[in-house]
Amino acid sequence: MTEDQERLPLTDTCWCGCKRATTRGAFWFQGHDKIAEAALNALDHRDSVAQRLHDRGFGPDRSVTEAAVQHGGWSRCEHCGYPGRLASGRMHQVRYPNCRENPNPWPAE
Ligand SMILES: [Zn+2]
Ligand SMILES: [Zn+2]
Repeated sequence: MTEDQERLPLTDTCWCGCKRATTRGAFWFQGHDKIAEAALNALDHRDSVAQRLHDRGFGPDRSVTEAAVQHGGWSRCEHCGYPGRLASGRMHQVRYPNCRENPNPWPAE
């Protein structure tokens, strides 16, 4: 739970707008956070990851994964450049121990 969430009022009613009562201290009826997130995404970005990227100025020529490495706390596999959170980077090396021999490595800009 982030600090932003803690400042929001807890109403005991689901925040997706369905008017269902939530368990005490919860924002969501079970699973409705995903529905609300999807609805928000449809409104803001027409339900398209490509559109979300474009809206933020990313695309084939401006790497969102590089931005995540630079500003989002991501790191790259030291062998192939695979980008991800630290934990997923370790998973990556477990799953692909020979990634340094990958013929199509992840470019690091
Ligand atoms: Zn709901
Ligand atoms: Zn790798």
